[in-house]
Amino acid sequence: MALPDPPALATLLEGDLRGAWDTDQARGRLRAAAIDSRRVRPGDVFFALTGLQNDGHAFVEAALAAGAGLAVVRRGWRPASCPLPRLEVDSPLAALQALAAWHRRRALGRVVAITGSNGKTVVKEALTALLATRYSVAASPGSWNSQVGVPLAVLNAPMGTEIGVFEAGVSAPGEMAALATILQPDLGVLVNVGLAHIAAFGTRATTAREKLRLFASVPAQGWVITPDDPLVEAQPLPCERLRVGDQAPRLVEQRPIPNGTLLTVAFEASSVSFPVLTRSAPLIADLMIAITAAVRLGVTPEAVAATLHDYSFGPTRMETWRTPDGVTIINDAASSDPLSVQAALDTVGSSPGGPGKRIFVFGGMGELGELDLREHRIIGRVAAERGFTHLVLLPHPSQAHTAAAWREVKPEAPVLEVNLSDLRDTVRQLAEPGDTLLVKGPRNEGLAAAARALWESMAPRRFLVDLGAIAENIARFRSLCGPRVAILAVLKAWAYGTELARVAVTLQESGVDWIGVSAADEGAVVRRAGVQLPVLVMLMNGEEVDKVVRYRLTPVVYSLAFARTLIEGLRALGASCDVHLEIDTGMGRLGVPPAEALAAARLLRGSGVTRLGGLMTHFSCADDPAEDGHSQAQLERFEQAVAAIRYEGDPTEPLIVHAAATAAAVRFPAARFDMVRLGLGLFGIHPSAAVAAALDLQLAVAFVSRLAQVSLWTRGQRVGYGGTYVVEAEELRVGIVEAGYNDGVPWRLAGAGVVMVQGHRVRIIGRISMDSMAVDLSAVPEAAVGDEVLIFGASEGQELRPEEVAQSAGTIPYELLVNVDSRRVQRVFRGD
Ligand SMILES: *Cc1c(COP(=O)(O)O)cnc(C)c1O
Repeated sequence: MALPDPPALATLLEGDLRGAWDTDQARGRLRAAAIDSRRVRPGDVFFALTGLQNDGHAFVEAALAAGAGLAVVRRGWRPASCPLPRLEVDSPLAALQALAAWHRRRALGRVVAITGSNGKTVVKEALTALLATRYSVAASPGSWNSQVGVPLAVLNAPMGTEIGVFEAGVSAPGEMAALATILQPDLGVLVNVGLAHIAAFGTRATTAREKLRLFASVPAQGWVITPDDPLVEAQPLPCERLRVGDQAPRLVEQRPIPNGTLLTVAFEASSVSFPVLTRSAPLIADLMIAITAAVRLGVTPEAVAATLHDYSFGPTRMETWRTPDGVTIINDAASSDPLSVQAALDTVGSSPGGPGKRIFVFGGMGELGELDLREHRIIGRVAAERGFTHLVLLPHPSQAHTAAAWREVKPEAPVLEVNLSDLRDTVRQLAEPGDTLLVKGPRNEGLAAAARALWESMAPRRFLVDLGAIAENIARFRSLCGPRVAILAVLKAWAYGTELARVAVTLQESGVDWIGVSAADEGAVVRRAGVQLPVLVMLMNGEEVDKVVRYRLTPVVYSLAFARTLIEGLRALGASCDVHLEIDTGMGRLGVPPAEALAAARLLRGSGVTRLGGLMTHFSCADDPAEDGHSQAQLERFEQAVAAIRYEGDPTEPLIVHAAATAAAVRFPAARFDMVRLGLGLFGIHPSAAVAAALDLQLAVAFVSRLAQVSLWTRGQRVGYGGTYVVEAEELRVGIVEAGYNDGVPWRLAGAGVVMVQGHRVRIIGRISMDSMAVDLSAVPEAAVGDEVLIFGASEGQELRPEEVAQSAGTIPYELLVNVDSRRVQRVFRGD
C-alpha cells in the first residue's frame, strides 16, 4: 500500500513538516503506518503514540534508523540529535485515525462493523470465513479493536477489498465516535451489551447508547443486527434492525455429537445440517449472528454448510492447555466482565469433558461500581449450577459474596481462598488427571502469568516458540533484502513443528506478505485462523480443487499433468484462481522442465480459469559454497525461462518471480527477485555454516524438559540399554532427563550429544531410551530434581544451537524441529 508523499500527508493530517524531511529517505515512497519501532520497515511512517507504559517519541530515532521515511510527532517535541524528518501534529493518535479514515474511503468497498461486550472476535472470524466464499475480504487481525487497533486494522486492508469486517471496542465514553469516523460502516452487528467498563459508563443503558454510536451514520438502506435486549430496542437506529431468528436463517435443531454439536439451520427455501466443534451455547449463538449477516450479503446455504463444516473456534482468547498427565487448563484471563465470565462458565460447563473435577479459579471482576456485589453473587451461583465442583478464589473485595452464593447452591462443595503466590501449589495439589480447570480474572492482576507458570510446571516437556524473535528475524531479512523484496513465510510441516495457526497469525501481524504451505488443508487452517494474506500451496493434490476456491489459495503448478487437472477442476466448479508456475532448473524434485515452461505458461494463460501470477524455482545446494557453480547454472536457466515467459505475456501482467529459500536469500542477492521464501531462517536457524557467517539471526525455539532423578553412581555401574556406558570414575553424578526418542530427541545422539543444565553443557551417556536419557552431571554438582534441561535452542539466556545438535545426531536441523512430538511436548508461545 502506498501513502501520499510527505507534503500531501501533511495536508491530509493537518500537520507541519519539520527537520530534514526532504532527505532521500523521506522523498522515497511512503509505504505503511507503523507504531512499533522494532517492526518498522523501510518507507514506513512511524507514529509516535503515547501509551500507558511507553512514549513513542523515545523511539523516533530508532524508527528512522530502521528505515522509516517520516515520523509523526506531537507539536513542540524536539529530537535530541540531528534534524529528523518529522511531521508535527496536535495528536499523533488522531493523525493515525485520520489516515485510516482516508484509506477506508479509498481502499474498501463496504464495511461491516462489529461491537459488543463479548464474542466480537468469534462473530468476526466466522463472518470473515463465510464472506470469503464470494468476496475479497479484509478483517481485523486478532482482536485489534481499540483506538489504535482499529486504524491499524483498516490500514492493513489491501486496495480494492470488497468487504471489510472490523471489530470496535471501547472502554470509555466518547471513544466510539472516533471509531465510527474511521470505519464509516455500511452494515453493523451489536453482539450484546454487558457490564464491561460499567464503572466508566454508569449504566447498561449508557453503555448501549455508546455502542450504538458506531452505527449512527449507517446509510438508510443498510442494516444492523441487534440482540434481543429491551435496552437496545429502546434506542433508535438510522437503518433496518435485524434480529437473529426473526426470519430465516433460523437454528432449528442442535444435537450433541461426540466432538461437538450437529446444527440444522433453516433458510428460506432449504435447510442444511453441519457439525461444529463446540458444545458451547454462547459460541453457537455467535455463529448464528455471523450466518445471519452472511446470508444477507448473499452467501448461499450450501456455502454456509461447506464453510462451517467442522468449524473450530480458532485461537480465541480462551487458551486450552492439556498437560501430559491429562489435566485440562482453560486460561481466559484476558477479560473478566460478567458476560465473559458467564460465557466461559457456560462453555466449560457444557463441554463434554471427563468425569474429573471441575475447578473454577476466579480472580473477581473489576470496574462494576454499585453492581459489584450483585454480579459476584450471580457468578458464584452460575459456577455452582454449571457443574463446577471446586471454587478457588483469589483476593477481591466482593469474593465473600461469590462464595456465599456458591454455597447456597452447593453447601458441601469446597471453596478455597488463596493468594496469587500460593495458586500454583494449591492447584497442583488439587488437580488430578481428568480434571478441568477454568482460570478467569482481570488481566492486570498477574493471573494470566500465574496460570501460565502453573501450567508450565505441569508440562515437563515444552517446545518454546519466541514470537518476538521470529518478528525480529523477519525485520533482519527485510533490511537484508530491501523494501522491494516481499517475504513469503514457509509454514509447511505445521510451521516447522511449532504450531501452524498461531504462528501464521503472528506472522500476519509482523507484516510478512505471503504464507506458503505444502497442502491445501494447511492452507485451510491458515484461513480459518483469520489470516488474509495470499497463501501459496506448494504441493497441491489435484483432487482438492474445491479447497482452492473455498479458501482462496494460490496453487503452485508443478507439472503439466497437474495444470490440466486443476483447469478441469476449476471449470467444473465454474471458478478461477491465481497460480504460480514452478520450473525445475536443477533441483530434481517438482516443477516443469525449462523446455516445457513456455508451453505450461501458455496453457495457464489461455485456460480462462487460471491467472498466471508468479514464476518460481527452487535451489538444491544454495547453502553450500562448493556447489555455487550448480546454483549459478540454476539461476541462469531460471532467468532465461522467466524472460521467455515474460516476452510472450502482456507487459502489465503482475508476475511475482521467486526462487530463494533461506540459504539463497542470504547468499545470492541475484536470486531474491520479487520475493524470498523463508522457512528455517524465520526460526533463527541457519541451513549451513556459510549462511551463518553471512547473517546473524535470533534463535526462536527451545526444546526443554527437566531432571527426573539425580543419583551418585559408583564405578562399574552400567548405564541404560545395552550397557554401552559404564561408570569409570570412583563416583559419578548422573541425571535422568524426562525426554527420549519418543519425544523427538534423536536416538543417534547417544554417546555424541550434550544438553544444558544450569548453563553448563553436560554429556549424554549411554543409549537414549524411549522416554528418558541419562546425562553426566559432574560439571554441575548443584543440579537437582526438577531443574530445567535444554535439549536444543535458546531459553533463559542459555543456548545450544540446533545446527550443532543436528550435526551430532547425523541429521539436519529441519528434521530435528519437525520431529519434536506434538502430542507429548507442549508448545508454549512467548513474546507476543
Ligand atoms: C521448504 C521450502 C522453502 C523454505 O526453505 P528454508 O530452507 O526452510 O528457508 C522454500 N521453498 C520451497 C519450495 C520449499 O520447499
